[in-house]
Amino acid sequence: MPTVHKAFKYKLDPTPEQERQLAWTLTRCRELYNAALQERRDAWKMRRVSIGYYEQKAELPGVKEVRPEYKDIQAQVLQDVILRLDRAFKKFFQGVKNGEKVGYPRFKNERRYHSFTYPQYGNGASTDNGFLVLSKIGRVKVIWSRPLEGTPKTVTIRHEADGWYVSFACANVPCVHLAPTGNEVGIDMGLQSFLTTSEGEHVENPRWFRATERKVRWHTKQVSRRKPGSKRRKKAVKDLAKVHQTVARQRLDYQHKAANKLITENDVIYHEDLEIRNMVKNHHLAKSISDAGWGQFLTILHHKAASASREVYAVPAQYTSQDCSRCGTRVPKSLSVRTHVCPHCGLVMDRDENSGCEIKRRGQRLRGVPGVPGAEPPFGERNRESPAF
Ligand SMILES: [Zn+2]
Repeated sequence: MPTVHKAFKYKLDPTPEQERQLAWTLTRCRELYNAALQERRDAWKMRRVSIGYYEQKAELPGVKEVRPEYKDIQAQVLQDVILRLDRAFKKFFQGVKNGEKVGYPRFKNERRYHSFTYPQYGNGASTDNGFLVLSKIGRVKVIWSRPLEGTPKTVTIRHEADGWYVSFACANVPCVHLAPTGNEVGIDMGLQSFLTTSEGEHVENPRWFRATERKVRWHTKQVSRRKPGSKRRKKAVKDLAKVHQTVARQRLDYQHKAANKLITENDVIYHEDLEIRNMVKNHHLAKSISDAGWGQFLTILHHKAASASREVYAVPAQYTSQDCSRCGTRVPKSLSVRTHVCPHCGLVMDRDENSGCEIKRRGQRLRGVPGVPGAEPPFGERNRESPAF
């Protein structure tokens, strides 16, 4: 039976003392992160020496000498902090190499450092009788909102606006078996609707985000009105974080539902190969794009498909809104024209539905599905033996 990697997240119900210890551990990890960053910066500035992961890891015993409280944190958790910094640097150097605009790794204040990780399940973190057992912290109550599946590999403890969470990254999670439906679908991801299928179904854009955004603005203003350091300011900051968390959850939930529906109803799904980065340059468009969070949606869709043995393909997306999905004739139209009217074959169809059909048609042609009508897709170096996806 095929398996996949998957993460399972649960809310924790720690005692006040455990909560204090979790917060204490998180703060120590953040301090270590900042200290390790400082060391790398200074070494480079003063001596033109670059310090790497293994050198810093080797220094951890020395840290425990001067700061004995670090002995109260599991060794691998501390190593993971060093590894996180190392990843931040690798990303930075890679970005510089690629000529991208990337920032130098930053010092983290408490608003930017939320989690610590036990990189090896069973070593400092495990489950026992429904409890999460953390070394040096104890047995923490877990709210098991769904079953944990597969083999846990890593355990991450995260602080969010409304409390503490645990996330298990698991391997060998069995695929869900879904009965074949015989259906294939193309999806157009648009601005008018969140997505439109080749079957003419519109999934609307989550408009609630706009409403929640007003709430975010209001709470942000509240924060700036309060005196820095005051109790009321702290409360306002907390409220703002909660609103942000709500938005993120609403969006995620919405996307999970939309992806589930597509996966349940279809064996194969085709979508545009979106180059969101290029589109984000236009300001108004950028807003709508980030609203809809297509990139995140596609990640969810691909993950779900993999765990249900369904297929998802990205199809080259040039001119999908202009080309006729029945005969392939290019029918230029501006963004405001909502209906596709083909002067060649007479097809009249909703603009986005036509795109969905065109995406499906291109995907099927690239996969060599027999009997797919229409002209060759308009991209050059395509090769029938090795499709572009
Ligand atoms: Zn046509």
